[in-house]
Amino acid sequence: MDIRGQGPKGVSGLPLIYAVQNQTTFIDEQQEVQTELLLESEHKLEAYRLDIGVKDQVKEDRRSFWRPARDAWVDDDFLWCELDSTHAYELMQAYSRAPHVRFLNAKSDDDLLDFVVTWGPLAIPESAPVGKSRLSIRDYRLFQTELRATNGLLLALQEGKGEGQALTQFLTLAEERQQALSLGAAHMPSTTILNLQMILQDDPLVQPLARRYVDKNTESTRILASLLGWIASASVVALRQAIAHLINKECQLTARLYSNVHSGTVSVQWELHTLEDALVWMVYQSALDTRLPQTCPECRKVFQSETRHAKKFCSPKCAHCCAARRWAAERRQRRAPELFASQKNG
Ligand SMILES: [Zn+2]
Repeated sequence: MDIRGQGPKGVSGLPLIYAVQNQTTFIDEQQEVQTELLLESEHKLEAYRLDIGVKDQVKEDRRSFWRPARDAWVDDDFLWCELDSTHAYELMQAYSRAPHVRFLNAKSDDDLLDFVVTWGPLAIPESAPVGKSRLSIRDYRLFQTELRATNGLLLALQEGKGEGQALTQFLTLAEERQQALSLGAAHMPSTTILNLQMILQDDPLVQPLARRYVDKNTESTRILASLLGWIASASVVALRQAIAHLINKECQLTARLYSNVHSGTVSVQWELHTLEDALVWMVYQSALDTRLPQTCPECRKVFQSETRHAKKFCSPKCAHCCAARRWAAERRQRRAPELFASQKNG
């Protein structure tokens, strides 16, 4: 869905952008992969933020309000929670407090429970009793891995590093998801794997490299193995091309126009049915803000830089620890020849 070509205007008079999809990807003269994702301008970001539509939660005055949980607990591998009927938060304001970063950081079950008490459950299944949610811990963890893999793919494209690892993680996860759906039986490849296979067959840039890795065998695990083989040998330019294509094909959320018969106006609203959808939207929004969550190489905490400038470490403390270690290593290296000389003389 790319309505931009038809030139509609949002309620603010700004052009509307609907999703990180159907956007052009090209290689410029410097052999850099460019996508529209990186070229979003400020006013388009504002257009993104206009309206958020929500079905399953409270909706008032075109803004969306979401419920936290009053209480959350784990029972027999399921995470239960009771929605707090007296409190609600507004999704736009929530974004500035980065719930997606907190979710990506939830390591233990207790971390998950804390998250749910603050932000509510990932979803409310129809089978759940009124005012409650019951989802397996496994579902929480699977979605967490998915969100991490999507974030990693976008980050690799924007930061220009770790492309092979991000692509491997994204594909492996798609295969795991497919395996879980087919309960371990032989299965058809996932759409992600088919998408990448198609990219490798169709793209003139990656094709010469990839031909021998396009497996005729339809068995999913074998195709995955050949794609991983391709990743291990592909150039960075080809990897970036593949990542850009996958983002264009797979990173999408639905938005639709809503009309108001009284004022005769239309507005655009994202269809965010669950907190899961909202967290995905937050990762996309972080990509548009060039502030994607990243992992601190020192303490492995996921953090979001406060500015658009990339920050490597989560805190001055971690930056200092790393610098001190590097300094000590360099000093050891400098002293090594002297040591060697003194041993020889002694
Ligand atoms: Zn750190």
